[in-house]
Amino acid sequence: MKYFKEVTVWSDSNSTNHTYYMKDDKSAMVGYIKFGTSDLFKFKNPIRIDTRGRKFEVLKMKGESDEVYFGKKEEPKKDLITVKGSNGKEYYLEKIGSKYTCTCPGFTFRQKCKHVDTMA
Ligand SMILES: [Zn+2]
Repeated sequence: MKYFKEVTVWSDSNSTNHTYYMKDDKSAMVGYIKFGTSDLFKFKNPIRIDTRGRKFEVLKMKGESDEVYFGKKEEPKKDLITVKGSNGKEYYLEKIGSKYTCTCPGFTFRQKCKHVDTMA
């Protein structure tokens, strides 16, 4: 995902170029920054864009992780503790106040699991 600043010269001088947040190959955009502003407006779903005849410059900006827009899982938060279940699956322990929660099925059903027990 990259920011593309449109630099198309329009014959219609009233047209303004915005900055688009698109997939690297410009096949879909997930958001845009309106001309004259710096806020990224994100779309709920990626939108196809016709870039034929239009010019873009890649902006060097620190991008956020927008993997989630394309259905990939989000990176676990840093304050979560990753544990491996007996089936090889990974679960995340999170400390809330003085208690831990766990994303494993055992904890989901019983609010209790061996992962949380080992933290106590
Ligand atoms: Zn657990």
